[in-house]
Amino acid sequence: MAQSFRQIEDPRQAGKIDHCLHDVLMSGFAMMFFQDPSILSFQKRLQEGAHCNNLTTVFNVGSIPKETQMRDVTDSIPTEELSGIFPAFLHELQRGRQLSQYQLLNGKYLVALDGSEYFSSDKVSCPRCLKKEPAKGNIRYHHQILQAVIVHPGSRQVLPFFPEPIQNSDGTDKQDCETNAGKRTIAKIRKAHPKLPIIITADDLYSKQPFVDALKGNDMSFILVAKPSDHKILFEWVEEFTNMGGTEHLEIIDKKGRYHRYEWVSDVPLNGAKNASQVNFFQYRIVDGEKVTYRNSWVTDIAIDQNNIVMLVKAGRARWKIENETFNTLKNQGYHIEHNYGHGSQYLSMNFFVLNLLAFYVHQILELCDLSYQRCRGKFSSRKEYWNQLRCTLRIILFRDLYHLLDYIFESPMIRAP
Ligand SMILES: [Zn+2]
Repeated sequence: MAQSFRQIEDPRQAGKIDHCLHDVLMSGFAMMFFQDPSILSFQKRLQEGAHCNNLTTVFNVGSIPKETQMRDVTDSIPTEELSGIFPAFLHELQRGRQLSQYQLLNGKYLVALDGSEYFSSDKVSCPRCLKKEPAKGNIRYHHQILQAVIVHPGSRQVLPFFPEPIQNSDGTDKQDCETNAGKRTIAKIRKAHPKLPIIITADDLYSKQPFVDALKGNDMSFILVAKPSDHKILFEWVEEFTNMGGTEHLEIIDKKGRYHRYEWVSDVPLNGAKNASQVNFFQYRIVDGEKVTYRNSWVTDIAIDQNNIVMLVKAGRARWKIENETFNTLKNQGYHIEHNYGHGSQYLSMNFFVLNLLAFYVHQILELCDLSYQRCRGKFSSRKEYWNQLRCTLRIILFRDLYHLLDYIFESPMIRAP
């Protein structure tokens, strides 16, 4: 990551630089990593008192910028400049053989796709804000992103790709939308990872012909939610097949006595258009006693049989991980993604989002592969307590690096004040 920060071209004039771009971006990242908006001022204080600080030792920051400097410089960096870090992390996981545990359905990777809003205001805005006018003269500004993450039904950790802003481009008034951002995202993922075998999973908004065409064009498979309300013709075909006895099914009764019914049918048209794609359809429901407790239906290009139907349903259901284990974590589990760290007049809002997502990504990698991190985290029952402990320890004690801090907290020495 440090290398990527160092490669970014500095938009500032050479003679007027107090802190190099690496130090500025790394300071912003450190703030997100420790989820501590005051980290810069605390570490400056340590520097003044002890002639050293933890931003230097843990994050290799040469000189700590003031918060306002950090905001101003970060505001001027085009967000796209930060995009290279995400594929670099994924390649590193691949090389370290940590990625293979995410493979399913013949070695493919399941990528969940969804949009989310991370900023909304009627006062603060920038030229990239989306605008809505809920009542006349009352404009609401907001920022949304389209996020893609690698998920696995059996893993709590998710691995994010670079987020695609749903935003207005310079000089146009046309409002961007989620499915357009979706098409841009899959093209960018394919460009960054030409050989990665991918299955895209997403909600009903995406199970439409133009998006399915885009997936095929990018050589990606799909498992997309298809609801009866949006796919009238498709469901008529399924009904007809069912009446003719052309559907297959699998029934399972689990240990709790719940009844799971899987049904599928191959080669049905996605819609009523002449050149509609032929897709495979599957649906699933859980019945507990008399009550249906879950029901959903999907379309896919993957051939369905008795051996893969259960995994297909698990993969389709793993889509919720982008809502729960990604957006919910970012919004409600300490990352304060909706908290206004500063909006800026160019790229700040989106750059802070990306730095926050990078911090989340590094935490996911540490949870997945790092024993020091895992055993230290294991000492605390709540995530909040864990990070509180890291933050307050970092404010008053100097450490050589992150592992020094983690091991110190794990061993929790009892110290009397002198
Ligand atoms: Zn804005």
